[in-house]
Amino acid sequence: SSSICLQILKASVRSGIRLHGSSAAASAAASSSSHSSSHGFSFELTEQQKEFQQLARKFAREEIIPAAAAYDRSGEVSSSIIILGCTVNDASIKCGMGLPNFDNCLITEELAYGCTGVQTAIEANSLGQMPVILAGNEAQKKKYLGRMTEEPLMCAYCVTEPGAGSDVASIKTRAVKMGDEYVVNGQKMWITNGGKANWYFLLARTNPDPKCPASKAFTGFILEADTPGVQIGRKEMNMGQRCSDTRGITFEDVRIPKENVLVAEGAGFKIAMGAFDNTRPPVAAGATGLAQRALDEATKYALERKTFGKVIAEHQAVSFLLAEMAMKVELARMGYQRAAWEVDQGRRNTYYASIAKAFAGDIANQVASDAVQIFGGNGFNSEYPVEKLMRDAKIYQIYEGTAQIQRLIVAREHLGRYQK
Ligand SMILES: Cc1cc2nc3c(=O)[nH]c(=O)nc-3n(C[C@H](O)[C@H](O)[C@H](O)COP(=O)(O)OP(=O)(O)OC[C@H]3O[C@@H](n4cnc5c(N)ncnc54)[C@H](O)[C@@H]3O)c2cc1C
Repeated sequence: SSSICLQILKASVRSGIRLHGSSAAASAAASSSSHSSSHGFSFELTEQQKEFQQLARKFAREEIIPAAAAYDRSGEVSSSIIILGCTVNDASIKCGMGLPNFDNCLITEELAYGCTGVQTAIEANSLGQMPVILAGNEAQKKKYLGRMTEEPLMCAYCVTEPGAGSDVASIKTRAVKMGDEYVVNGQKMWITNGGKANWYFLLARTNPDPKCPASKAFTGFILEADTPGVQIGRKEMNMGQRCSDTRGITFEDVRIPKENVLVAEGAGFKIAMGAFDNTRPPVAAGATGLAQRALDEATKYALERKTFGKVIAEHQAVSFLLAEMAMKVELARMGYQRAAWEVDQGRRNTYYASIAKAFAGDIANQVASDAVQIFGGNGFNSEYPVEKLMRDAKIYQIYEGTAQIQRLIVAREHLGRYQK
């Protein structure tokens, strides 16, 4: 497995991807590596993209799939898998942030094919870093992103609270400025990598006036996980993606130096929300990977299982179900690829990111459920892979903005074009 990481590293270095790139570097890398931008429309991957895809595929087949059921049962994943996965994924730990979003998504789909619990832990690492990538100053980037490249570390994105998820502007965690520090009190919930993170991106309210608009009321901080007053809750037992570490975190008089404010006091809401344009395409890619796995498992099974004297794939009802599943997977893939490509062109991709995330989240659930159907009674049993896929799929309609919130965004973006 370490040789796979080495190959990824070599491939990225060969192609000139910078080790500590910014989003500008990502765009530059994208335009140099994506021939679709230089030669018009193309569905063909570059040689380098194919190389990334193949390496991630090999990693998922050799390292993740054989261990996934055990991780699901124990709720634990070997940290070396996550670290290696991070390396292979957006290369954020070793190769740096310079990988185009499109390439990152290709890799994410492959890792998710292996196990989306593993992929979510890896993806949450990108989500935690994204506000710093997008809004951090040079010193913050050097210290916190740099640290991630030097050691195998995790980080997390702390926004949701017990009382507020979709309605981010209702979060209650407070940060009060006292001299050169902010003192934070409050509670976060459902934080992926909550117990594993070395540092957090934290969103807290700094303006107590309820009339203050969200765009000015919140501040984004970088918080060291070992700061006194940070209390990490128990690992939550979830329906699926069970090896991913999800926790509540309580903050009691936690002191954060003012150097750890991102941009400025009041700028946090935009930073926290802006991260999603970059991270929803890979989340959609993860859901697509799960759906592709469900389709592959169901197809293989349908070609082996016999009823009434023929393999079940020869019953038209089953083959049409497989056809519907294939149609959904292909379109979900095109959706995330478009959303990622828009990021790499340096364009605002909110509309495409929400379409991709909503569609892939929904079809992952439909395709996984259909795969269980094709497996019959075996599909309901944990000795076969598809019941895990069905449990794992559900979260794609909930985290990083629910299926309903994505539709709100798509509707707002769509109507906005007509109302100008
Ligand atoms: C496993 C897991 C991992 C997570 N990881 C993270 C993480 O790393 N960091 C983090 O900050 N958060 C994380 N979350 C939180 C996640 O993003 C929220 O759970 C999600 O945004 C929904 O918020 P909520 O749970 O408060 O539901 P609510 O916002 O209370 O929504 C409840 C229901 O109402 C619907 N709804 C709400 N508002 C509207 C509306 N205006 N119109 C129509 N329908 C609406 C929702 O779609 C949903 O169906 C995670 C959650 C889980 C379960």
